[in-house]
Amino acid sequence: AIKFIETKSNQLSMSLHKRGAMIILSSPSGAGKTTLVKLISDKKNNFISISHTTRSPRSNEINGVDYYFINKNQFQKLINEKEFLEYAEVFGNYYGTSKKEIIEKLNKGKNVIFDIDWQGTEQIIKQKLNYKLITIFILPPSKKVLHDRLSNRDMKDKLIVEERMKQFDKDILHWKNYNYVVINDDLKKCLSKIINILDSELNDKENTYNKTVIENHIKNLI
Ligand code: 5GP
Repeated sequence: AIKFIETKSNQLSMSLHKRGAMIILSSPSGAGKTTLVKLISDKKNNFISISHTTRSPRSNEINGVDYYFINKNQFQKLINEKEFLEYAEVFGNYYGTSKKEIIEKLNKGKNVIFDIDWQGTEQIIKQKLNYKLITIFILPPSKKVLHDRLSNRDMKDKLIVEERMKQFDKDILHWKNYNYVVINDDLKKCLSKIINILDSELNDKENTYNKTVIENHIKNLI
């Protein structure tokens, strides 16, 4: 009996240690998050969750790499079949994270990075899953920079830019639900801040995160 208990407790501690972490990066549109997600996933053991979306692909996007592009009926079917860990409507399109792929990765000890909005983040936080969860909100340095970045995308439509600027004012209010807020003024610096946060969280170390600086920055943006 003792041997059995020992084996069980070893298995338990092993499975606890081996599980990967869920890392959520959210940001208002145009803060540069997608690039960051790609850079972070270049690090070993990190895997990007590929979402499903009903949005049409942009000219540089590839099905199965950037998203799984599906239509509304297919999306609804996945909702009905309870395939989604979370899903949300963003700018009139549906986006969702399917459970299958990511749970398998997490159980194999891989960290999974999610590029999802605040609605999806809230849903995942509420589920209190048995994986370490790290949530990071990325902000642009200023509204002007955000406006410039949005105007340079392949969606040159002015109306879309204005709509996303308005959405920004609403989205930013959700910063409080996140463990960390990072400002993307310079891609390299921002990346190294995120790596520092992840390293500290995943290896139980101190980090240099400065909450006061962030709170002041947000006050200026609001
Ligand atoms: P975009 O259309 O610019 O690629 O993404 C628009 C927004 O949808 C971004 O804020 C992005 O993080 C979010 N998003 C992408 N995939 C998902 C997802 O699976 N779930 C949720 N909730 N949001 C997502």
